[in-house]
Amino acid sequence: MKRFGLIGFPISHSFSQRHFQEKFVKESLVDHIYELYPLATLSEFIPFIQNTPDLIGLNVTIPFKEKIIPYLQVLDDISKEINAVNCIKILNNNHNIPLLKGYNTDATGFEQSIKPLIKHHHKSALILGNGGSAKAVSYVLNKLNINFKIATRTPFQSNHIKYNEINEDIIKNNLLIINTTPLGMVPNLNTFPDIPYNLLTENHLLYDLIYNPEETFFLTKGKNNGAQIKNGLSMLFFQADKSWEIWTNQPN
Ligand code: NAP
Repeated sequence: MKRFGLIGFPISHSFSQRHFQEKFVKESLVDHIYELYPLATLSEFIPFIQNTPDLIGLNVTIPFKEKIIPYLQVLDDISKEINAVNCIKILNNNHNIPLLKGYNTDATGFEQSIKPLIKHHHKSALILGNGGSAKAVSYVLNKLNINFKIATRTPFQSNHIKYNEINEDIIKNNLLIINTTPLGMVPNLNTFPDIPYNLLTENHLLYDLIYNPEETFFLTKGKNNGAQIKNGLSMLFFQADKSWEIWTNQPN
């Protein structure tokens, strides 16, 4: 059996398992399986790898994207720069000395998803939240030469602002607004980032990394104020495709 899966906690809301299982059926990959592996703590990680010798690749989600790094022997350049890993390739597992390589495919997924939507007026952005995925988003915005500020509850850098500092100027000057917080994600459907939605215009693009529900309160409020909106579903699919390529096609 060629085994793949997702580690994190909790992970029951994830779409990844369904995505890969549908792929395996469509491509007649009968000896392939993708499972959810909820790990309460990372102390369970190495025993889990050693006890699962047919494991080839893992995705990593909340809350382990940064904490997993000390358990990996090698990081690729992108995950090293972002300092977060959401994809692991497992080599030599059947020899009991597994080699674990970390990658960040969230960055690739976000870049491929947002690039077709970027217009000439999207010169600077406001990122909401400063967790693991905000780091992947920042990496991509830097790569695309888009300036950005980060709204966070605990600012500690010069480009960080508090939510109560998001005023008319900030909204007017940042036509791309990206939600990287879990506000609005199932089961907390009625929550949303605290920004002045009434100041949005049709030139604004609101991007939400959340894909469940399809349209969060953040996106609905943006749409009702004329902004273009986009959820995180295509990012999820692009990052899954990149993970698959790493597990199956890339040289070791
Ligand atoms: P994370 O590391 O926990 O970061 C989330 C950040 O959101 C926190 O660091 C925090 O930033 C902010 N936040 C959390 N609770 C908040 C609250 N009550 N009010 C205001 N801000 C709050 O999580 P993540 O891995 O970045 O994931 C974030 C979201 O993106 C999740 O919904 C996840 O499902 C989604 N995601 C989607 C994809 C995709 O492929 N579409 C990929 C990755 C992640 P501050 O402490 O700085 O305020």
